[in-house]
Amino acid sequence: MEYVVEQQEPTTVPVRLDAQAEVSEQTPRFPVHRIYCVGRNYSEHVKEMGGDPKQEPPVFFSKPASACVTFNQDVAYPQATNDLHHEVELVVALKSGGKDIDLESAMDCVYGYAVGIDFTRRDLQAIAKSKGRPWDLAKGFDQSAPISAILPASELAQLGDRQISLKVNDEIRQHASLSEMIWSVPEIISELSKFFELKSGDIIYTGTPSGVAAVSKGDRLCASVEGVGVLNFRIA
Ligand code: MN
Repeated sequence: MEYVVEQQEPTTVPVRLDAQAEVSEQTPRFPVHRIYCVGRNYSEHVKEMGGDPKQEPPVFFSKPASACVTFNQDVAYPQATNDLHHEVELVVALKSGGKDIDLESAMDCVYGYAVGIDFTRRDLQAIAKSKGRPWDLAKGFDQSAPISAILPASELAQLGDRQISLKVNDEIRQHASLSEMIWSVPEIISELSKFFELKSGDIIYTGTPSGVAAVSKGDRLCASVEGVGVLNFRIA
């Protein structure tokens, strides 16, 4: 018996080379290698989840690269949950990597930034937490990582205190400044590279501010990071 392995097209994210231009299907694409995520990176969100921001180091987990949803496409309400939560996050795309990257050279790895949603099956996460099980079922499902076009870092002076926000049906659900992140972008890259050899094409969801809540079929989501990107889509 011979098995044929089908080659899958790599997952790619559109690149917004001109900050003014609309992103089209012909836009250059960034090939996604892996998706890493940081948990508990804004103190108000740590508190709303029942934790203590001062005592907990960052939590890392991952999603399959195929979880990305691009070009503002609809997201299907996933199976196996009655409590799908939004988490708006700054996403960092890497052009290079390495192991044990020091803080000083961490930013040299950054290709660009985007805004994304780390969708979470909160009911499955609660079970995983209570039983000490992995988070894969709660985090790593299909279409769990919508993402805007990536803005090259060269087009951005600095992240600074840009505002990150999420509206659901025009109502603000999450809103914070990137300066409220407990672990900065270079700290996240440096810390993550102690566990994985980071590579070109890796993207990192950097954690969500407070205000996470459930979404329903038919909801319209609008996520943004000021000057970086906007993501607009519907739960179908
Ligand atoms: Mn998250």
